[in-house]
Amino acid sequence: MGLADKVCLVTGGSKGIGKEICLQLAKEKACVIVNYLSDENKAAQVVSEIEAMGRKAMMYKADVSNFDAVSKMVDDIVDKFGRIDVLVNNAGITKDGLIVRMKEEDWDRVIDINLKGIFNTSKACVKYMIKQKKGRIINISSIVGIYGNVGQVNYAASKAGIIGFTKSLAKELGSRGITVNAVAPGFIKTDMTASLIEKHEDIVSRIPLKRLGSPQDVANLVTFLASEKAEYITGQLIAIDGGMTL
Ligand code: NAD
Repeated sequence: MGLADKVCLVTGGSKGIGKEICLQLAKEKACVIVNYLSDENKAAQVVSEIEAMGRKAMMYKADVSNFDAVSKMVDDIVDKFGRIDVLVNNAGITKDGLIVRMKEEDWDRVIDINLKGIFNTSKACVKYMIKQKKGRIINISSIVGIYGNVGQVNYAASKAGIIGFTKSLAKELGSRGITVNAVAPGFIKTDMTASLIEKHEDIVSRIPLKRLGSPQDVANLVTFLASEKAEYITGQLIAIDGGMTL
């Protein structure tokens, strides 16, 4: 797929969808930087799995909502590996509640991590990608950002914001050889959706493919978008939801 030795940064790479993206990129012989916030042991486990495949990996603790910490992370990566080829903006949180009960800090934290985080990482990487005349940015949005969801005004706004961000940045950077795309997962089996799936047993019946998505399903798409095979795709939002939103 043309990913051998490409330097790839995956935010929130210690578990769930991010972990699987790290592993699939490594299977394609990429060098992977596993960004994490607090799960040091889990991040170390992902790095060991990648090294066991004979690939290079590094873990890096940084809160994506912190502009200075993210700039330092990306500068340190380029110091160590000489370049940055692929940025996967995967880190994300939910802090759900109806608007009447939602606290201001629940709004702020979700927007800061899910949306401002993508600005922080992209801004830090783009200056290097422009010099390289090449780069790939892949943002993890959500079907909730397209269709909305009760109890998730903060999350939906952040994920909808990612779509506008992706299209605008794709237009800005197209002439520099950099592609920017977004993926919109439906219901994927991870810690984030565990309680939701328990509460709504009927979810599967609403999915034409009759199963929940797996982190591997999303990682397959992200790895394709990161690869040379996707070089003529930019500014797109691709839903990966088993047909749920048809
Ligand atoms: P998850 O909770 O398993 O993983 C989220 C990851 O983000 C964790 O590793 C967490 O530590 C990291 N993270 C959170 N805040 C961070 C911060 N400030 N800085 C750095 N890392 C931080 O959830 P997941 O389901 O694997 O979600 C991954 C992405 O996919 C998220 O952006 C989520 O919104 C999106 N998504 C998930 C689903 C789903 O059904 N699971 C659906 C649509 C979109």
